[in-house]
Amino acid sequence: MPVIGRLNIVVTGGAGFIGSHLCDRLVQKGHAVTCVDNLYTGRFENIRPLLNHRNFRFVEGDVREPLAVDGPVDRIYNLACPASPPHYQRDPIGTVKTCVLGALHALELARSTGARVLQASTSEVYGDPEIHPQPESYRGSVNTTGPRACYDEGKRCAEALFFDYRRMYGVPVKVARIFNTYGPRMLENDGRVISNFVVQALRNRPITLYGDGSQTRSFCYVEDLLNGLELLMESDDAVTGPFNLGNPREVTVKEIARMVLEQTGSRSRLAYHPLPQDDPRRRKPEIAAAAQALGWQPRVPLEDGLRSTIDYFALKVATPEVPRPAEKADAVVLANRPPRKRRTALSAVAGQA
Ligand code: NAD
Ligand code: UDP
Repeated sequence: MPVIGRLNIVVTGGAGFIGSHLCDRLVQKGHAVTCVDNLYTGRFENIRPLLNHRNFRFVEGDVREPLAVDGPVDRIYNLACPASPPHYQRDPIGTVKTCVLGALHALELARSTGARVLQASTSEVYGDPEIHPQPESYRGSVNTTGPRACYDEGKRCAEALFFDYRRMYGVPVKVARIFNTYGPRMLENDGRVISNFVVQALRNRPITLYGDGSQTRSFCYVEDLLNGLELLMESDDAVTGPFNLGNPREVTVKEIARMVLEQTGSRSRLAYHPLPQDDPRRRKPEIAAAAQALGWQPRVPLEDGLRSTIDYFALKVATPEVPRPAEKADAVVLANRPPRKRRTALSAVAGQA
């Protein structure tokens, strides 16, 4: 990756699991980072260490509203969107709007500022795939009327918008199709498989296996994913993707349960529950394209990534968080709260770093 100077970077969804790790990394590299998040599934705790950093600004804002900024913007990572099925299905219409309007507003900001913009797309664009492993050329098998469609189709539409903005306006776009990613800072009550199993095991509660546990996923550790996102963002403008970013090691959900039980030494038993509707049977990324174009490949073995994730949750389970008054949403946001108007005004915070 070429050495780059200090950039002005907007990260939507920057208080979430992946977004907060990305903000950490970008601030550490000396960039000026503006995190826009409505805290739907994100947490202050994730960005607490950054809140007083002079290169970091938090803006409570919703990407379903237009994003405006006065100062320069060089890069936009559009990560805002709940990623866990229970969360994105809780408000499906809101999820569609977040996917589609969020992409539109990120693209408009890129168009007006000349920034590069990267979309956090997903392996869900392949739906319940008939081709295995999934290459980027596979066009997917999504049930447009099912409970996952709000997310899957929302993300598919977002990809369409990205490529239309490139064709129509020459906006430099990048699209990453992220496969199941895990690591510290997932929500305890997130509903995703690794966080569920780890928290259940640490509490010696039943491990909730959906279906018979033979369905597969391929899990990428968050640091590996960040390497891929950054390499993609800093690649030539001609390199747009979409690129699959994920770890091609495929495991069954039951194997994950066994690994978690073994690593935690838990007394939990397996408890079988019905498989959710449209739950994909198999998922594994073909990553040759990202390897060739970006020189990227994941490096962290599942066992090591699970160990870090278990260590993180072990601390959380032992010390449940008590919100401190000074860190409640309003206390932090008031300083940056945009004027009450339709646009999410980033002008109040941009360029201050
Ligand atoms: P997350 O839920 O932890 O983070 C999403 C963040 O977006 C949260 O901070 C949330 O508060 C914020 N957000 C949601 N709706 C918003 C809105 N309307 N306006 C502003 N902020 C909003 O999820 P994550 O795992 O960190 O995922 C980040 C991105 O990566 C998402 O776009 C997701 O679709 C994509 N992705 C993640 C995975 C994965 O396995 N983690 C896989 C594929 C794609
Ligand atoms: N799953 C499970 N138990 C849980 C949570 C999830 O068996 O407590 C299964 C789920 O049915 C799916 C897989 O684990 O087959 C991955 O689920 P997750 O929600 O993490 O991600 P996604 O389905 O979006 O890939």
